[in-house]
Amino acid sequence: MPKIVMKFGGTSVADLDRIRNVARLVKKQRDAGNEVAVVVSAMSGTTNHLVKLCNDLNPLHDTAEYDVVVATGEQVTIGLLAIALQSLGTPARSWQGWQIPILSDDAHSKARVDSIDGQKLLAAMARGETPIIAGFQGVSADGRVTTLGRGGSDLSAVAIAAAIKADRCDIYTDVDGIYTTDPRVVPRARKLEKISFEEMLELASVGAKVLQTRSVEMAMKHGVRIQVLSSFADKPGSLVVGEDEIVEKLVVSGVAYSVDDAKVTLRRVADRPGVAAILFGRLAEAHVNVDMIVQNLGADGTTDMTFTVGRGDLAQARVALEDVREALGYQEVLTDPAVAKISVVGIGMRSHAGVAARMFKALSERNINIQVISTSEIKVSVLVAAEYKELAVRALHTCFGLDGDEPPAAGEGQ
Ligand code: ADP
Ligand code: ASP
Ligand code: MG
Repeated sequence: MPKIVMKFGGTSVADLDRIRNVARLVKKQRDAGNEVAVVVSAMSGTTNHLVKLCNDLNPLHDTAEYDVVVATGEQVTIGLLAIALQSLGTPARSWQGWQIPILSDDAHSKARVDSIDGQKLLAAMARGETPIIAGFQGVSADGRVTTLGRGGSDLSAVAIAAAIKADRCDIYTDVDGIYTTDPRVVPRARKLEKISFEEMLELASVGAKVLQTRSVEMAMKHGVRIQVLSSFADKPGSLVVGEDEIVEKLVVSGVAYSVDDAKVTLRRVADRPGVAAILFGRLAEAHVNVDMIVQNLGADGTTDMTFTVGRGDLAQARVALEDVREALGYQEVLTDPAVAKISVVGIGMRSHAGVAARMFKALSERNINIQVISTSEIKVSVLVAAEYKELAVRALHTCFGLDGDEPPAAGEGQ
C-alpha cells in the first residue's frame, strides 16, 4: 500500500468545520487505498498568542519553559482531529512528540531533529489506525519538550515521511501551491508546477513562509517528495523535486521577502584582527543567528559593523553585545527593526550574469534605497526600509518577467 504523510497548517484546522473538512480529506486518501500518517499545526493564531504570553511575562524568558507553553497548541488539534476521524468511523489516535519519540537536540525554541523512531507509527498504520501527530514538537535526550522553530510542523511532516519511508509528503495549506512570490502581495504571481529543492530552500531561507527552511533541507537530504496544495480546493499543487526534473531553468524563478529581521549597527569599532571573531563568536554562543553583514572603514581608522539578526533575537543580541563592549571598544549600538529583506532566487543565475544589476536598477527606478546587500550562487538579497516591502517585491516580480499575464522575457531563459 502506498504510504503518505498529510500535513495540515493552522488555517486548515482553524475551527471545528475545518477540522471536519480535514478529517474528510484524510478519510478520502485512506479510502483510495493509502496508508496515511497525519501531522497537524495548532489552530491559526494560537501559537502567536502563546509566544506573546511568554514575551509579555519576560522577553528574556527561559526557552525550555517557552517550549512547554508553545507546544500546547498542537496537543489540542491532534485530539480534536482524532475525535473528528473517529466520528467518521475511521480509527485514529493522537501522538505527541515524546510518545513516538521525535528526538531532538536541546536548542529550545529552535531545536533540530536528531532521529525519529517510526516503528510505533508503522505498526499503528499496519493495523488500520491513522496516527495524528503533533507537529512542531520533539523531545530532548533528557526528556524535555522542545519545539522546532516557527513553522516547524512542516519539518515534523517531512522528518516523519523520511522515517516511515513515505511515498509522498503532502503539505496542505491556505494557498494552492508554490508561487513565483507570495500571492497575497502580488496577485499576478504565477503558480509553479515544479520547483527544485535548491530554489525552494533558498526561497524559504529568505522568507517564503510556504515551507519552513529546515523541512526543505530535510526533504532534499532524504529525497522526500513534497507537494504543496490547498485544503480548501480539490486540485493538484506544486511539487518540490530534484533539479534534473526541471526542464526550464529560470534565471529568476521567485521573489521573497522577510520582515523578520532587524538591523544592528555597531559604530566605531576598533579596526584590528580578531574583532569580528569576538563579536560573532559571542552572538553564536547566545544562539543569535546573524544573516547579512557589512563593514565600512571610516576615515579615523575605526569601522562601522552592520548586520542583521532575527527580530525575535534582538533582546538576546543586545545582551551579548553588552558583554563584549569592553573587548570591542565600540562607541554605540544602533538598532532598526523597521527593515525588510527582499530576495530574488533562481538556479539560472549560475550561468547568467547581471541579475544583481537588473535588480538594483529596478529598485532605483522606484527610489528605493538599498541598505545592505548579500548574494549566493543562486540568490541576491537586499535590505530596504520596511515601508517599501510591497513596492520592491512587485517591482522585482515585474522586472524579471514573472507576472502572470506577461510572456517570459526573450533570451533570458525565462
Ligand atoms: P500554514 O499555516 O499552512 O503552514 P503558512 O502561513 O505557514 O501556512 O504558509 C502559507 C503562506 O505562505 C501563504 O498563505 C502565503 O501567503 C505565503 N507565501 C509566501 N511566499 C509564498 C510563495 N512563494 N508561494 C505560496 N505562498 C507563499
Ligand atoms: N504552530 C507552529 C507555528 O505557528 C508550527 C507550525 O504552524 O508549523 O509556528
Ligand atoms: Mg507554515
